[in-house]
Amino acid sequence: MESRTYTSPADVAQWCAAAGWPVHPLVPHQKTPVASCAACRLPGHRTSDCPCLAEGRWCHGLLAATTNRARVTDWWDSQPGFGVGVACGPAGLVVLDVDAHAQALPQRHEVLPGIAIHETIDLTGLSTGYHSLALLAALRGQPDPALDDLTLRVRTPSGGLHIWYDATSAPRLRSSVGRGGRGLAWQVDVRAVGGYIVAPGMRTRNGSYEHVGECSRPAVLPDWLREELERTGHLEKPRESRTRPSARIDPALAAVLSAGWGSEAARKTLETVLEPVLACATTASGAGFSDKLNRAAFTAGGLCAAGVAEPARVQQLLEEVAEYVRPGQHRRSAQIISSGFTAGSQRPLIPGGRR
Ligand SMILES: [Zn+2]
Ligand SMILES: [Zn+2]
Repeated sequence: MESRTYTSPADVAQWCAAAGWPVHPLVPHQKTPVASCAACRLPGHRTSDCPCLAEGRWCHGLLAATTNRARVTDWWDSQPGFGVGVACGPAGLVVLDVDAHAQALPQRHEVLPGIAIHETIDLTGLSTGYHSLALLAALRGQPDPALDDLTLRVRTPSGGLHIWYDATSAPRLRSSVGRGGRGLAWQVDVRAVGGYIVAPGMRTRNGSYEHVGECSRPAVLPDWLREELERTGHLEKPRESRTRPSARIDPALAAVLSAGWGSEAARKTLETVLEPVLACATTASGAGFSDKLNRAAFTAGGLCAAGVAEPARVQQLLEEVAEYVRPGQHRRSAQIISSGFTAGSQRPLIPGGRR
């Protein structure tokens, strides 16, 4: 894979989105997400009934992350100086964030959590995450991930390293901060579910995030690292909610599903018919997607005809779901939604009542 040269944040954002990695804006030249709107910053505001995410605003940091090309274009057209963050969870990414802060040697048991490093191993000179990660690899008889030139690696302004891995086929792994005897290794943070990472090519006031070597794609997460991540408590607990059967619902989409577009009963009814549509996300094509989307649209039409849901918002929601499940088929999905919705509108549907 050829290496990439930095052009503009907008370009980087589109590159990430095209790779299937949801992006969200960062404060120009910093690594923090841009602020939410005033309403979203009010005390007591909950993302579960926030309209901003459904309406395509960038409130709530990584929860707003999207692969929607049009939205990405809108965001960076309006604010070309915004940096780019990648939401690791919905992107299926696990990124090892190796710090190079020269620090005093930690306690022996804090270097590699859960591993008792034998007294005969001399830890003199161990001062950064590069060292603790190399030690872990050596103890396991594996190559040092920091030297893995077959995966995407990014040098950070502070001299650290981001090592990117594709974990789409691994169990869901969550983020951690590797200090104080927790995490994967001392001075090695893990960015996964619940975390985001600064995109390659970004510049902050401290310097650039630059590709190391030629590889510009993440390799599949090696089995041994996955095992180490599971051993150190990075395995995401299974979801309890029955209404979220798809293991990898985009957080932005989850927020859309729960946004205030209709009554609680209407939401439950629509969720029931959206579940099979979402389930199609795990298959490349077919799976009866069109029929399932049509049925969901029909139900939505009935709910709107009964006055318990708002037509414009519900149709937008259906389009978001369709785009998530079958990206790039917007026109076709919109036709299915439109015809299903129109047909359903002839049959008002009271949630809980009989058709
Ligand atoms: Zn907002
Ligand atoms: Zn909000």
